[in-house]
Amino acid sequence: MPAFLPDTMVEATATLSFDEQIDALEQEREELLRFPEDEFIDVIRDVGFSCDCCGRCCTQEFNGHVFLLEEDTDRVRSFRPDVIIPAPDYDACDRQGRFYVSGYALRTGPEGSCVFLSGGRCSIYDRRFSICRVYPYMLHREADEAGTIDWRQIGGLNEHGCYNTPLDEAECTRIARETRAYEAAFLDQEIRFRRALRDLFAREGLRYVRRTYDLLMRDFRNGAEVEVRVFHRGRFEPHRVTRGTYGW
Ligand code: SF4
Ligand code: SF4
Repeated sequence: MPAFLPDTMVEATATLSFDEQIDALEQEREELLRFPEDEFIDVIRDVGFSCDCCGRCCTQEFNGHVFLLEEDTDRVRSFRPDVIIPAPDYDACDRQGRFYVSGYALRTGPEGSCVFLSGGRCSIYDRRFSICRVYPYMLHREADEAGTIDWRQIGGLNEHGCYNTPLDEAECTRIARETRAYEAAFLDQEIRFRRALRDLFAREGLRYVRRTYDLLMRDFRNGAEVEVRVFHRGRFEPHRVTRGTYGW
């Protein structure tokens, strides 16, 4: 599931200092909180999406990976600690060759499906994770195919599910509020991660150099094992990973 910073923001922040990234994310959070609820509700009602339970959103092919908010990570650790891995698309590295990322993701099974997908159904439906609960709804800005950045409210529009289903006001309002709350929690985690990263780099005299990142990433893609420090509850947890960790 696409739960990272939108691509446009990742690219836009790649060359910014940590403080500039934090400012950009805080600005994004303000814009998110300002987005008119009635406008979002109108979109939800007009699209009338309904899920046909095809299970495709639970596969790597359709949605990349399932990003976990910190509360999701704590929960899955209580019953399946073996299925969490550092989220891919690392955000930074230091000159000692360690990557840093803002949270965990779910490991995928050999077929590229979520490890909890069984017989086309979620085997932990009542305990599924934050992003699973709001998908395909979203409320963040992304570039379209022409490069125009605008708000997006439904993921994979017209590629899955059914449309023009009548949805009552209470249901549309519930979806709008849960989706905004998810996006705010996601941005909050990104902001806390970058603040902690800024402070760690200052404290330990570390430096982030884009060329080092590119070289390390090349080695990683070629099969090298690398260290990734994953942000969780204010700390950085070290892991050793290879491409195989992600089933690539
Ligand atoms: S936890 Fe369930 S809903 Fe979420 S991706 Fe996995 S199978 Fe799908
Ligand atoms: S949300 Fe979409 S992709 Fe996921 S199960 Fe429902 S219809 Fe299929």
